Amino acid sequence: MHQQVPLFINGEFVESQSSRRLPNLNPATQLILAEVPCATRDEIEQAIASAKDAFQTWKEVPAPERARLMLRYQALLKEHQDEIAETLSQETGKTFADAKGDVWRGIEVVEHACNIPSLMMGETLENVAREIDTYSMVQPLGVCVGITPFNFPAMIPLWMFPLAIACGNTFILKPSEQDPLTPMRLVELFVEAGFPKGVLQVIHGDREQVDQLLTHPDIKAISFVGSAPVGQHIYRTGTQHLKRVQCMTGAKNHMVVMPDADKQQVINHLVGASVGAAGQRCMAISVAVFVGNSREWLDDLRTAMAQAKPGLWNDEDASFGPLISPQAKQRVLSLIREGKQEGANCLLDGSDFVLPDYPDGNWVGPTLFSNVQPEMKIYQEEIFGPVLLTIQVDTLEEAVELINRNPFGNGTSIFTASGGAARYFQHHVQVGQVGINVPIPVPLPFFSFTGWRNSFYGDQHAYGKQAVRFYTETKTVTARWFNNEAVSGPNMTIQLK
Ligand code: NAD
Repeated sequence: MHQQVPLFINGEFVESQSSRRLPNLNPATQLILAEVPCATRDEIEQAIASAKDAFQTWKEVPAPERARLMLRYQALLKEHQDEIAETLSQETGKTFADAKGDVWRGIEVVEHACNIPSLMMGETLENVAREIDTYSMVQPLGVCVGITPFNFPAMIPLWMFPLAIACGNTFILKPSEQDPLTPMRLVELFVEAGFPKGVLQVIHGDREQVDQLLTHPDIKAISFVGSAPVGQHIYRTGTQHLKRVQCMTGAKNHMVVMPDADKQQVINHLVGASVGAAGQRCMAISVAVFVGNSREWLDDLRTAMAQAKPGLWNDEDASFGPLISPQAKQRVLSLIREGKQEGANCLLDGSDFVLPDYPDGNWVGPTLFSNVQPEMKIYQEEIFGPVLLTIQVDTLEEAVELINRNPFGNGTSIFTASGGAARYFQHHVQVGQVGINVPIPVPLPFFSFTGWRNSFYGDQHAYGKQAVRFYTETKTVTARWFNNEAVSGPNMTIQLK
């Protein structure tokens, strides 16, 4: 009998009655770590009813009290960071150092949620007309839902539920079925921090469970992070059912290399940003655009990439781990094959890499292509593996046009010594997150995570001030107090007097 991942409903960790269970596999060995139940319709109804009920009291808890609980939560997460990272490494295959980063980037959002009294402050203007004041305030929405991907099982749930709950909402998390043990540990610590029962619930499953949430009349808002096709489905269905929806989706991130950049910095950052976490980051660099003579650095890049080694999570010499699943590996291998058939030059091919003694792991070694053309499938699709494509252009303007034609707009960066080139790039590139000599420009949580085009569906983005707007409704009050002034007749105009 394998470990069963519990649901978390109405403040209790409970075993699901579902007969449909999915295996949670160690990606280096395929050994089953636990079984994940696909929650029944009744269980989901119970979670929603409990969250709806809890909302009535949670929304009345003063913001400073909610912030105090959040402070306790961030302290517990910090205390348990290594232990959470170890669980995370085992179920994702990420190296321990990278897993710690995943947890840390989530803790930063919880720190941000501790500022909720200031973040929720409204606006006031005295005397909008004579002796009339207008002020606005924000109030929570009700029951919110988060659907999260496999690739950051600590950070991405923490992008969502702490801020939603700090705003006074209650929350139902549907974590990735591929690595649910990490989010469950986050939930255990949430309980330990002292949050009241019903404020957070967890259900597990896949499309069927998500669809029940998307169409349920008691759900007010949906946050989703995952692939673009699934994001489109979530956005369409959620909005059709009149919910507020934000979907952070797939990517194809370009790094522009100017000939005046520092060559060694370029090579080091390109290797880390393309194959780190086995390329399974939505902000990974997957295309390097060499401008002018910088194309001559390709040989040195190939040499450096060849030194990046996949390995086990607890091997300090490993650069990155296996892919999440055999299906993910097969998809990456088939795209590599297709790239070769389409005529791109495969300068380094990691397709046959196997870690000695771990033949069943989902390994793919670093892979580098040159001579990639924009119409090729490897350029059009998100690969989500340790594969870097390179394209050569003559000018910065050409590089920017290429990036702007790509359907995705999550992240991009430029490496250069020229302020003028950087300024041109930041102004003209149509991508939501731009790095200047920073390869993976993921904003810290006081800003928002702002993908564009097919990398995002919705209008308010994840975390930062935008998330507070997403998880709240604004109410605007216009107020007058009479001071025994002379009473005139009715005012028949729309004007405030
Ligand atoms: P995924 O889309 O397969 O799954 C994401 C979530 O959706 C999971 O919880 C899954 O159970 C659920 N799901 C899957 N298929 C569904 C369906 N048909 N209907 C309803 N729900 C469904 O994504 P993944 O493979 O777990 O994660 C990788 C993807 O996430 C990549 O495309 C990556 O770029 C993207 N991502 C984006 C960001 C961002 O901020 N833009 C961050 C991280 C990951």
